[in-house]
Amino acid sequence: MSEHSPFKQNVTGRGSSLRIVSRFETVKRIDDEEVINDPEYIESLGQKVATEYFEDTSNSVVSENNSPDVPFRYSLNPYRGCSHGCSYCYARPTHEYLGLGPGLDFESKIVIKPNAAELFRKWLVEGHHKGRAVEPVMISGVTDCYQGCEKQFELTRRCLEVARDFRYPVQLITKNGLIRRDLDLIEELASMQLVSVAISITTLDQSLTRIMEPRTSAPQVRLNTIRQIADTGCPVMVMVAPIIPGINEQEIPNVLKAAAESGATRAGYVALRLPLTVEPVFLEWLEQHFPDRKEKVIERIRTMRDGKMNSSTYGERMTGKGVWGDQTRQLMTTFCKRYGLDCGVSYGKPTERPKLRCDLFRVVERNGNVQGELF
Ligand code: SF4
Repeated sequence: MSEHSPFKQNVTGRGSSLRIVSRFETVKRIDDEEVINDPEYIESLGQKVATEYFEDTSNSVVSENNSPDVPFRYSLNPYRGCSHGCSYCYARPTHEYLGLGPGLDFESKIVIKPNAAELFRKWLVEGHHKGRAVEPVMISGVTDCYQGCEKQFELTRRCLEVARDFRYPVQLITKNGLIRRDLDLIEELASMQLVSVAISITTLDQSLTRIMEPRTSAPQVRLNTIRQIADTGCPVMVMVAPIIPGINEQEIPNVLKAAAESGATRAGYVALRLPLTVEPVFLEWLEQHFPDRKEKVIERIRTMRDGKMNSSTYGERMTGKGVWGDQTRQLMTTFCKRYGLDCGVSYGKPTERPKLRCDLFRVVERNGNVQGELF
């Protein structure tokens, strides 16, 4: 018998096949070695892992961050975990606070907040009473608010309706074309300068997308999405995030060009980050899909991280250091200029974002009346 250690399940259609136990699990599970080493047992686990949903009954949906290199203060997250399953996702360790694993669990056990819109509404009313300054809320800063299950639960859509009613500024970021379902709301919000959208594109190569971000939309769908959102009058940014040394950096010029031609006006990037348990998940993915390139990629990651695999230092963690960091920044700057894009990130500090209006905020009563409005 041995303590539970990561083990690999032979799954298809997922970003990670690792079953990893949470760092915070207080009761250690013990594997039965006879079973865990039995190929028939592994086979019996099946290749297709269904996504399960769990309700989160916590009382808040908006969190506040003070990181100097994160360009938003408030973030609203209707979902925890993300079925998109990007191998490099730096939100993976957040699942461990729920007692779930950062590997396969992160992308197959999704925790939802069914009352997200109601909690958002409550946060806005409380903020009004406390005199809190109006600042845009990022939907969603941790996991993707348009991952597949949003089609079923519509939590993001209901939060956008609250933002529209209260005239509160919001920003959206996603890798999923499902956001187009909400073009009506985006157009309404954009007409009041209350919304901006970032679409994340890491590659134009569909086959790389399929293995690196298995359940996201295809690159062409994301480009079409940029076009459709831009047509509503909403400012759209393309996020080349993350840039992985030796995997997708050569695509920067083409991604920027395609995004600009589709209507994006701004671009940003983030270098690969491997905090905590993201590292083993990413390395296992690298071994599985690029065994011949693995050592080279690792060497280049170390080059941009002072010999380590990760850096959590503000100002450099988002962009990387050394020759790789300089070259990437230069590449972004040069090609943003060439294609007429405002370069949104420079030296790890976000530059000014599109101005959203903060002076239209109002409180709407449950009966639909606007507080303080005379009839
Ligand atoms: S879409 Fe974003 S949140 Fe979802 S797995 Fe990918 S990187 Fe993580």
